[in-house]
Formats: sequence, C-alpha cells, structure tokens
Amino acid sequence: MSLTSAELRAVRRTPSPLRAAVAQDTRSHNLSLILGLLYASGPMTRPQLAAATKLSQPTVTALVADLLDEGMLHDLGVVAEARVGKPAARVEINVDGNAAAVVDLSSGQVFTGALVNLRGEIIARTSLEVHGATGDDVIELAVRTVNELVASTSARVIGVGVASPGLVDDAGNIRVSDRLGLRDVDVAHAVSAATGLDVVVGNDVNWMALGIRRFRDRTTGDLLAVTIENGVGGAVILDSDLVPGEQFAAGEIGHVIVDPCGEECVCGRRGCLEQVTGASHLLRRIESHPADERDALVSSAGKALGGFLAPVVSMLNLTDVALLGPAGLMHGPYADAVVEAISERLLPAHAASIRVTVYEQDPDLVIQGAASAVIQAQLGVR
Ligand SMILES: [Zn+2]
Repeated sequence: MSLTSAELRAVRRTPSPLRAAVAQDTRSHNLSLILGLLYASGPMTRPQLAAATKLSQPTVTALVADLLDEGMLHDLGVVAEARVGKPAARVEINVDGNAAAVVDLSSGQVFTGALVNLRGEIIARTSLEVHGATGDDVIELAVRTVNELVASTSARVIGVGVASPGLVDDAGNIRVSDRLGLRDVDVAHAVSAATGLDVVVGNDVNWMALGIRRFRDRTTGDLLAVTIENGVGGAVILDSDLVPGEQFAAGEIGHVIVDPCGEECVCGRRGCLEQVTGASHLLRRIESHPADERDALVSSAGKALGGFLAPVVSMLNLTDVALLGPAGLMHGPYADAVVEAISERLLPAHAASIRVTVYEQDPDLVIQGAASAVIQAQLGVR
C-alpha cells in the first residue's frame, strides 16, 4: 500500500491519558482479573482466585457463578487431594465451548472466515469469493461470513475479529485501505450492529505478529515481525502489546527508501524496501537471471532487509525477530543473510542473543492473531 503524506497527516492517535480515562466498571474489571488469571494459570479454586486477585471470597463466588451460568467457565468439582480445611472445587476456562469468529479481509480475491477456540485452534473455516469487492460490499460480505459462522456452531461466540489491510485505528475504524476501497469507515460498529456481537478490527500484519506471540511462541514479550509477502510490512510487540504508532502506521515500512539509485517503485520513487527485498520483486529478478545467480540475488535482498532492521532491533533492544514470506524463499540464503546483516551491525553481546524464526506463507497466523485480539478484548488477558 502506498500512503500519501496528506493521508497520513489526517490520522492521529488519541493520546493515552484520554483512552485511560474511559471508565471501565468495577464488575467488568473484576471479571477480567478472574478470566485473565484462569486463562494464564489453568484451573484454580475460588479461594485461590480470591487470594490472587485480592478480591473478597463472596465477590469471587458471585462472579464465578455468573461465568459458569454463561458458559465461560467449567466446574471441575472438588479437588481430590485437598487435605486441609473444607474441600474446594476448581474452575477452568471453557476453551472448547467458546470461540472467536474471525473474518480475514486481507486477500483481494477471497475473504476467509474461521471459528477459533480459546486455545487458538481453528475449529471451522469458510471462504467467500469476493472478486475485488470494495466499499459497502466489504462490510456486507464480512457480516454474512460472521452470521454463517455463528449459525454453524454450538460454541458460544464471544466476539468477532476483522483483519484488514491498511491503517486501522484503535476504535475499529478502517482509516485507509485502498485494497478494500474504504476510508474512515467504522467497521467495528457496522459489523457489531448487524451481528449483535462485540467486534475488534485490526491490521493484518499486526495480527500476524499477535498470532505468533500468543499461539506459536510465548517465550518473549517483545517481537519484531516482518513479512515480505504482498509488499513488505512489519509489526512490533513490546511487553506483549502491539505498538500502533501515532498515525496507526507502525510497520508501514514498504516504501522507505533503502537504495536511492535502485529500481523505480510504484510510489514513483526509487529503491524502496519493497522494491529491493519484497518477494514479488525478488522472484521477478530471479526469473530473469541465470539459475547460478539465484543465491546471490536472494542473499543480497536478505542483507538489505537485515541492514534495515538492525537499528530498530538495537534501538528497542529486541532479541526475537519473525520473518514471514513465501514457501521456498525464506529458508536458506535469505534468512541467513538477514541474520548476518543484523548480527554484524549490533554489539556482539546483543547479536549473540538474536533469534530469527522463519514462518512460511501461513494465512492461519492472521486468523489466530484476530482470535487473540478477541480473547484479549473479551477476557482481558494479555
Ligand atoms: Zn515505493
């Protein structure tokens, strides 16, 4: 996507003090505490929950009763090995009886719908040929997909995640998406009004990173993810939270110039990162060169990306980088060159800790990331 500077200037994030001032009532805060704890820690008794949340036992008992009634929790019964005091029953999150409904709008040809349980497993999948649908048609197709998913399952659908290309703000408005023909459209509200469900909307690359972080690799709270598929885009997760950027454009790196003398780009300038290291341009160059030059071309593109990422990795003191792209291209010389170019630019002590993980063309990551955003919004977990 190429954004004009005028489009970017029009987008501003509301400063965080205002966001923090949005009142969250005590009950929903307490529910989040309990759900977040159970999601992270597994089955617990009510006294354990009270001790860990610092809520009173009657409060925990009442909230747990409500969560059991609505099907969010399972009662596992009395702990057999309890030896001291009154035996206490454990409760756990009902991961299979609840699901997030997801619609991935990131492909121009097919919208993918999926139901994802709270463990991140895709339990149902549907797809809709869209043939480049834009504008109001996008919303209508997204709503239709959600309604089909909800009608097809006996699980309780806790919320909807809509993944979109382009700039998406933190209130669920698609601010700019050329591919979907949407400008300043409150997609969260539109889909919620038509389905009766809570809806979160996010950028597809950001949610790929979230999918990795929650369901593929939970060893770090910080992650830099970069995809070279469909252009070049990135996402940064710091302390388990996505970094949106002041203009919701964090990770929109495709048209940063890395080689001023390079080939002309669709944006009218020369040597953009996308032109130099993006999969479609790289594959085109490979096709037009002899086979024995392939590895050198791939290495050179990987080096350019690594050189671009190194200062970001250093500035944020990141250790985990996820590389995403087409199967058959990412492993071998490409990933090796990225690692080498990052490592040789960093201080040795930092370079020794760098871990680069390659994910080959995996559309399920966007779906799992969208489910993760729904779980985060509905259960209050990070
Ligand atoms: Zn460009």
